[in-house]
Amino acid sequence: MSAITLVCRRSGAVYDGAAPIWRSEAGGLLDVRFEARFPRERIAARAPSMWRYREALPIENDRSITSLGEPLTPLVEADVLGRRLLLKLDHLFPTGSYKDRGAAVLISRARELGVRRVVEDSSGNAGAAIAAYAARAGIRAEIFVPEANTPAKLAQIRSYGTTLRPIPGPRAASADAAMAAAERTYYASHVWNPFFFHGTKTFAYEIVEQLGWQAPDGVIVPTGNGTLLIGAYIGLRDLVGAGVIPRIPPLFAVQAATCAPLLESPPPPGPTLAEGIAIADPPRAAQCREILRETGGAVLAVTDAEIVAALRATCASGFFIEPTSAAAIAAAARADLPGRVVTAVTGHGLKAAATIARCLAAGG
Ligand SMILES: *Cc1c(COP(=O)(O)O)cnc(C)c1O
Repeated sequence: MSAITLVCRRSGAVYDGAAPIWRSEAGGLLDVRFEARFPRERIAARAPSMWRYREALPIENDRSITSLGEPLTPLVEADVLGRRLLLKLDHLFPTGSYKDRGAAVLISRARELGVRRVVEDSSGNAGAAIAAYAARAGIRAEIFVPEANTPAKLAQIRSYGTTLRPIPGPRAASADAAMAAAERTYYASHVWNPFFFHGTKTFAYEIVEQLGWQAPDGVIVPTGNGTLLIGAYIGLRDLVGAGVIPRIPPLFAVQAATCAPLLESPPPPGPTLAEGIAIADPPRAAQCREILRETGGAVLAVTDAEIVAALRATCASGFFIEPTSAAAIAAAARADLPGRVVTAVTGHGLKAAATIARCLAAGG
């Protein structure tokens, strides 16, 4: 077996990392296992991008690397809603969201494995990121989306030359269709494919390096399926494992008050402005709960009214962000935690300009 292996979270079964699988024989979720290293002098000498953590990424050959020029995103202080927040500006990625971190590593790995076609199900930012990086790699992408979707984000996905497959019925029907198609291709799922999380983990590497190779006192991320929560956790765990930081700080998962399955007794799900995190039944929910428990974090649930207030205040500070990202800002401002607590800014406002216009018009 190579230095990269896949481990089933349910059975503990171990597979070679080159196997083009997305779940174990037991049907369990997979994690990537390999040793991340952080040669700091070499890192410092490289370009400011997530690829500077080369020895910590599960890509064997430099030639596999698929990049659209990802920036090392800024970590800035901003005064919002009367609080000083530390914001990680991940809306500044090539497709307009942090999902590019995950897509860059997942598609690079797919290319390394000789994959020619991928499938994914997402009508949002994950779909756009997978489509863009597949286009860059010369890999054909088919994205399954609910038929009843609003056209705004679909235009971006389609623009990358992707084949869109509209599926009737609820969101879960699109996932089922993608999984069925994945029998013959490669499932580039941001939820199931564990290589995605080994891209989103670079979010944590960058924060720690930007703080002078020190851990933050907490990290606040909007959470639906947990691609950033789990990625941040893996990244911090890698840094602890390599002896760079002593322990993992508390991680806080922000959810919509009307769609908060990570709460101990969640309310019945309803609509929310925070579309990007409105996931009623996330497959990795148990993993997310474990992370909150282990790190001493918590779920922070915010209402649509809080989201609109945070959106208004953040945009008025010069940062044009998605309503989903405003949820994290709202939670951070309300929690007002001590120390260097980082809040993720996950998606660009240009993705949802029409919704933002409506939010800002309502309530004056
Ligand atoms: C995907 C996304 C999130 C959260 O992602 P999950 O993986 O569902 O937890 C947050 N904000 C934006 C803008 C996103 O696109």
